[in-house]
Amino acid sequence: MIRDAFRVLKMDLSEGRGQILMLDGRDAYAGGSGLAALLFENFGRIDQSWDAPEQPLIFAIGPLTGYFPLMSKTVCAFKSPYHDQYAESHAGGRSALAFRFADLDALVITGQAPRPSCLAVGNHHIDLRDVHYLWGQDVDATGKMLRRTYPGSGHRSILRIGPAGENRSAMAGINVDTYRHFGRLGGGAVMGAKNLKGIVIEGDAAFPLPGGKTYRGLYEDIYAQMTATDMMSKYHSLGTAANLEALNALQSLPWRNLQQTTDPAITGVTGERFADATLLRNAACAGCPVGCIHVGFVREKFMAANQYLYRQVAYDYEPIFATGTMLGVTDTFAVLGIMDAVEKMGLDVMSAGVALAWATEATEKGLISEKETLLPLAFGEAPAFKEAVGHLARGANNFYRLLGQGTLKAAKVYGGNDFACVLGQEMAGYATGEVFYTAQSLGFRHSHLDTGSYSYDQKHDEKDVGKVIDFLVADERERVLLTAMVSCLFARGVYKYDRLAECLASLGYGTLADNMAAIAGTIQQKRWQLRLATGFRPDAVRIPRRFTEVTTWKGQTDSRYLDRLLSAYGAAIAAIARPESSSEIRP
Ligand code: SF4
Repeated sequence: MIRDAFRVLKMDLSEGRGQILMLDGRDAYAGGSGLAALLFENFGRIDQSWDAPEQPLIFAIGPLTGYFPLMSKTVCAFKSPYHDQYAESHAGGRSALAFRFADLDALVITGQAPRPSCLAVGNHHIDLRDVHYLWGQDVDATGKMLRRTYPGSGHRSILRIGPAGENRSAMAGINVDTYRHFGRLGGGAVMGAKNLKGIVIEGDAAFPLPGGKTYRGLYEDIYAQMTATDMMSKYHSLGTAANLEALNALQSLPWRNLQQTTDPAITGVTGERFADATLLRNAACAGCPVGCIHVGFVREKFMAANQYLYRQVAYDYEPIFATGTMLGVTDTFAVLGIMDAVEKMGLDVMSAGVALAWATEATEKGLISEKETLLPLAFGEAPAFKEAVGHLARGANNFYRLLGQGTLKAAKVYGGNDFACVLGQEMAGYATGEVFYTAQSLGFRHSHLDTGSYSYDQKHDEKDVGKVIDFLVADERERVLLTAMVSCLFARGVYKYDRLAECLASLGYGTLADNMAAIAGTIQQKRWQLRLATGFRPDAVRIPRRFTEVTTWKGQTDSRYLDRLLSAYGAAIAAIARPESSSEIRP
């Protein structure tokens, strides 16, 4: 059943009480990114710190969630411990479908539980339970315990944090159903600050699908496009790990803290190599027929001699870059071993890998020593990195506590700002050129998926600043519409404007279908307004020198071009946020 108003559960952990709110705004904000922004505007405290108990932790789904394939993501929004600004992170797993089955468009959590707790929510129930015995446990052990405590069907989703979140590391993520994550910008620390070890979404209701042939025909058509054509097959076969070899060949793969962009040692960690040596199975988010999640295994020596424990670890392009090439580790099992440690600690894998790569180069350059790192860090030495992950998550000393707040913060104290691989946050694995460095530094989520900038770099040789900025602004707007629905961005080739309009109309969202262009503009503007209001200053963003030393297939980074892009994109963002700015976009 579709509703014009959003059905939102607002839970106050301090009071231990929740209430259902019916919130207007569907026709302007759609859901997902739009709904999250609307909720932050209503409940966020612009002038208070990210860890003030009143700050909301928001989860929102979209109008198409549960009705069409790959409409499988949830948007998580919060004030970030990384920079104290409004932020979003996205994840799938079963979370989105569980919210749909619980008949909730959003969950807003405020306050702070008096003791470490787990919050379970369903269609008609709320249960806040003391789980102090889980505080200090890793993500794996916590998951096992929560699955036992909250037995349920496939419509149950379990979100939890590890020691990194408990310690309020700005690199702490929220684990979703073991293989997916709200990874970036410190959502895990927000849960930790609220004394919230876990969140269980119990999808214990049902929702009717539209009758008639229109919806059914549309669904079948989209499903066939995703499964019977080769549009999505690359995500299933080798998955995004296939990019490792391609980016290495383009001299765009960060190696050893971005001291190189290509290396013959790539043969040890290609997508093929991971598939041949480690792949156990593919997994999928609920409602996804593609199944891009690749689950490999690592073998761990277990207590007595000759006893082994096999652990399953999901891999992808980004985690392999962060725990493999960036750290100079080129053995598949060693890479999975570091990833496994990161998973257990509840750290964002990209942030952790890039931060440790910086610490390793800082060690090489003599800026820090074992006094800080507590063990000898050297590129390629996987066992030390595995251990360092624990130190980083638990904040073992002042150095790791500072590093856990961000590489630039550590560099400010110890030196090494020039080679900190930070583009807004610790970089994603694309050293493709000036457009990507600009877009990740200034992009809303500081994510490689905010726009197709890495692809733009690979396809364009000319240096036309105006053309780049037009592309970034328009591409972000299109993606914002998808994250309002909330689609997996891998399906962006399928869900073009016309298709989305058909989907919305088939469910009865006629106004949304007719006004998508304006809605995308409204949401894009609202998100930037909130970001700027919470302290973002595009003109203060600087790109560390390491990025200007990088050489790709196009040659060395052009610093002048990079500066012009930064200043023009910063100005474009400020213009989008101005109230009088037009919110129209040509579909
Ligand atoms: S393609 Fe992958 S990330 Fe996207 S919904 Fe499917 S399984 Fe999830």
